[in-house]
Amino acid sequence: MIKKYYLLSPGPTPVPENVLAAAAEPIIHHRTPQFSKIFMDTTEMLKMVFGTKEDVFILTSSGTGAMETAIVNTLSPGDKVLTLNAGKFGERWGNICKAYGVVYKEIIVEWGKDYPKEKLEAELKAMPDCKAVFCQLSETSTGAVYDIKGFGEVVAKTDAILVVDGISGTGATPCPMDEWKVDVMVSGCQKSFMIPPGLAYIAFGPKAWAMVETAKCPKFYFDAKKAKKNLADKTTPWTPAVSLVIQQKKALDIIAAMGLDGLFAHHRILGDATRAGVRALGLELLAEKPGNILTSVKTPAGIDGGKIVKTMQGKYMAYIAGAQDPMKGRFFRIAHLGYMGGFDIITALTALEMTLADLGYDFTPGDAVKAAEPILRESWS
Ligand SMILES: *Cc1c(COP(=O)(O)O)cnc(C)c1O
Repeated sequence: MIKKYYLLSPGPTPVPENVLAAAAEPIIHHRTPQFSKIFMDTTEMLKMVFGTKEDVFILTSSGTGAMETAIVNTLSPGDKVLTLNAGKFGERWGNICKAYGVVYKEIIVEWGKDYPKEKLEAELKAMPDCKAVFCQLSETSTGAVYDIKGFGEVVAKTDAILVVDGISGTGATPCPMDEWKVDVMVSGCQKSFMIPPGLAYIAFGPKAWAMVETAKCPKFYFDAKKAKKNLADKTTPWTPAVSLVIQQKKALDIIAAMGLDGLFAHHRILGDATRAGVRALGLELLAEKPGNILTSVKTPAGIDGGKIVKTMQGKYMAYIAGAQDPMKGRFFRIAHLGYMGGFDIITALTALEMTLADLGYDFTPGDAVKAAEPILRESWS
């Protein structure tokens, strides 16, 4: 059989055909009115997706670069912060802090478990000199989403800033930055923003800008003040990834045409259909509060979790993601993020059913698709 590649991972995600084609256009110079127009239009549309009136800066880096930008521009070595470590990406906040001598206290949350704002409030009370709270909107290593609105209410009452990693969540699940009192929001382009990897986005609110003035962490490439000064001139301090910005503008045109509510509803439908499908196979979800970005599914008893991912990818070329260390083999992750349609969920569920049949799991083939179909059909519009 022709082996067709199906990308079902939570980043990078599939890219619309017209957006892919845009990368083949001749390169234009970045210090020109022609590029500045595209760049500023893109920036404006990113502000809409972020839900902010603040500047959104486009960085040429992967998402982690925006995480680093958040830290080095707001903090000084020796500052005390809280990091919510509920998975691989929460852990990364701590690792970046460590690299810059920022003193972090990790709030360790079991993978997939929720974390209520009341607990954060208590942590902040016990740490009055806390300068920042770092967390994820969508913890992509588990599929769980967190109560950013609640965290915003709690952190706003203190001197600390709330820094949210929306690298997989922004644009897929609501998180209006200004309304929810998020002080720094970061995102990346290769997930819900539907373009190839290579750009990261960041915005700072007023409370965070005040900290930028005194932050002493070393920085050069990721200097927010340089980015702000250059944005006022409709440009970037360094050469931007010209083609990616052009691609992002085209993908944002699709997002703008759907509207944010339309985009959130789309992800909700795909998430509902996926969850219904896997549950119909007798499988359990990992996340207590699963987001509509990806679905983490626990490996059923008696089945080798590594083999599920290997078979899905190797035999069926359905590129779901496995669980990362230290949870390898314990669950697997099916994304419904980026340029995915309803039938991509059917593909994912069918590939999963065929894989489980190969591995000897006891179920009725077709049950997952049977559960997902009505959800997709009834909300198809
Ligand atoms: C993908 C992801 C990252 C890392 O982004 P890179 O682009 O790989 O640097 C960080 N946080 C979350 C929540 C992610 O999903």
